[in-house]
Amino acid sequence: MTMGSTTSNSQLQNDNKSWSQFLSRRTSNPSCQGEKRSKFVVVGAGFTGLSAAKRLAELHPSDEILLLDAREIGQNASGRNSGFAVAHSHFPGRFDEKLLKEYQRIDRLNQSGLDILRAEITKHNIGCDWQEHGFYHAAADKSALKSCAEFIDYLAKRGIEHQPLNQDELQKQIGTRWYQGGVKVNDGALMNPAKLVKGLVKSFPSNVVLHENSAVDSIALGKQIILRTKKAKIIADKVLLACNYEMTRLGINNHKLLGVTLTGSFTRVLTEEELDGLGSVRSWGVMSLHGGGATLRLTLDGRLAIRNTAEYNRSNLYSVPDIKERERLHRQAFNNRFPQLKEVTFEHSYSCVEGVSANKTNFFEKLGDNLFVAGGFNGSGISKGTVFGRALAEYASNQTSELIKDCLNCPSALWMPPPPLLGVGARFMVRQRFKDVGKDR
Ligand SMILES: Cc1cc2nc3c(=O)[nH]c(=O)nc-3n(C[C@H](O)[C@H](O)[C@H](O)COP(=O)(O)OP(=O)(O)OC[C@H]3O[C@@H](n4cnc5c(N)ncnc54)[C@H](O)[C@@H]3O)c2cc1C
Repeated sequence: MTMGSTTSNSQLQNDNKSWSQFLSRRTSNPSCQGEKRSKFVVVGAGFTGLSAAKRLAELHPSDEILLLDAREIGQNASGRNSGFAVAHSHFPGRFDEKLLKEYQRIDRLNQSGLDILRAEITKHNIGCDWQEHGFYHAAADKSALKSCAEFIDYLAKRGIEHQPLNQDELQKQIGTRWYQGGVKVNDGALMNPAKLVKGLVKSFPSNVVLHENSAVDSIALGKQIILRTKKAKIIADKVLLACNYEMTRLGINNHKLLGVTLTGSFTRVLTEEELDGLGSVRSWGVMSLHGGGATLRLTLDGRLAIRNTAEYNRSNLYSVPDIKERERLHRQAFNNRFPQLKEVTFEHSYSCVEGVSANKTNFFEKLGDNLFVAGGFNGSGISKGTVFGRALAEYASNQTSELIKDCLNCPSALWMPPPPLLGVGARFMVRQRFKDVGKDR
């Protein structure tokens, strides 16, 4: 397997579309040009930045909120992820009474994020295949089955609605006998994340001005902050940084966060007959109970999607040939689960980068007087990015709230060494994720 593509992310974004591959093209907003002054600038238009910009616009209706993104909308982790908006996080290991307050803090955040998204989707009638009836957590091999038992015990102790499922029940519902056991958690939503991101942008109030293809190359801190892109200089009173793992490229938290590159594939749309051969549920999502296991979706438009690789590629996307190599792993895992569909072709494969800290914490902080930062949600940033974005906007507007307190209470991120040790450590960390993965890959 070729490792370490060095091609830049912006060159690769159009080969890596993920869900956007199946959507009609939208015309991107013009890039930022010339000299500008703004009270609030948000950098990054993923779930975090979109939510922050929206909230700032509500709180400051007579100010213009400038939102800058290095790429086109949807060509980021927010537009390419697996589309599970969680209400309840899965904490590995046994239920620990001493951690109850932490479990509750994190789930309060998840649920607030979910509430915000539901409200936006309903208010603006955003078509994003939103289905709020929870999802499956499944286990095929020994290590994941142990996690399954621990998770069921955790859910019971927390009073979270769930149904344990055996192999036969899973087969009846989702059409595979690969998993020996699992559990369905009833809260949580599935969606097409690219449609959601684009719908959120369309519903922006008129005082949000979005510039795409406007990468911020440098940030100079001071009484006012000066941001520079290739074609613009922006002088801002306050800057909200929502650029996930790429904040490190601007010198922020660069020993605390890195990007891990994941790949996955989508099949063509299945025929009615093929869908009938699957289980009774017509659209579902399966998260693995092993941290290195495969994520699966049956989308509302009838495609199966699988994601099962994670590697350190210096926080970059993969090129098409690199993705092609990883497609073999998707195919193997797909055929294991759905031998009846092994002739079904993959129509699109993609890569996507998630921001990971050594202790899987999230970032929410104020740096200096006027720089506010949120990000690093690992593989779980739809609900969290949304809520952290809103809280960041409120924090930057001098508000106080329980929500802000919950965000501020994230444990500090552990320090990571600089390159070349970073690469060694990161590869080790990612390999550990696959320890004992067995049939769950
Ligand atoms: C394959 C995969 C599957 C996942 N599945 C799920 C899932 O099912 N559920 C879930 O909750 N989470 C999932 N995640 C994680 C989730 O996608 C992320 O946590 C979330 O999207 C992060 O949102 P964000 O807005 O913080 O960052 P991003 O979506 O990464 O957005 C950051 C934005 O900042 C922009 N940017 C960066 N640098 C600059 C700069 N210098 N100037 C201007 N703009 C800049 C980028 O272009 C980007 O648009 C998954 C991640 C991956 C990789």
